[in-house]
Amino acid sequence: MTDLSAAESARLHQLITCEYPSTISAAAAAGEACVWCSGPLGVDAVGLDTRDPRIGCGSCYGGRRAWYTTWYDWHRHVRRCVPCQQARVCHVGSGLRSLHEITRESAGKVDPSYCVSCHHPVHAGELVVPVRWEGTTQDHLGYGHTQCLMSRATVR
Ligand SMILES: [Zn+2]
Ligand SMILES: [Zn+2]
Ligand SMILES: [Zn+2]
Repeated sequence: MTDLSAAESARLHQLITCEYPSTISAAAAAGEACVWCSGPLGVDAVGLDTRDPRIGCGSCYGGRRAWYTTWYDWHRHVRRCVPCQQARVCHVGSGLRSLHEITRESAGKVDPSYCVSCHHPVHAGELVVPVRWEGTTQDHLGYGHTQCLMSRATVR
C-alpha cells in the first residue's frame, strides 16, 4: 500500500468521513457509537470531519481507508498504463483491481458499482478502470467500463 503525503491523507480523511448513513442510531448521533456499524468505539476510534460530533470505530474507518488507498493505487497505475486504458491484458492492473475489490466488503460497499459512462452495473468479468470525477463539494471515485471510456482520449 502506498504512503500518502500529508495533503493526500487529509483529503482522504475528508472523503472517508463525509460518507456515513443519513439515519444513524441515537448512540452514534451522540458520538457514543460508530456511525457506520453502531458498534462500540475502541481506542482506535476516529473523529469525523463533520459539524456534529461523529465518530467511527477503527475497523470501519480502516476498511474505508483501505478502499480509497487501493483505489488510488489502481488509478495511479491506469493513468500511466496504455494496455489498461486500451482494454488489453495487464497483470499489474488486474492485480491492483483485485486488491481493491477485496476491500469492498470491509468498506461497507454492498451495492453493485455502476459504470460512470453507460450506467450499467459493473460485473467481475468485465474490464473496468477507476474513474474520478469532480462533484460540487468533493471528488467522487468510481469505475467505468474500459470499452465505454475508450472513446475519450485519456482515462482521468
Ligand atoms: Zn464501526
Ligand atoms: Zn496496466
Ligand atoms: Zn459502461
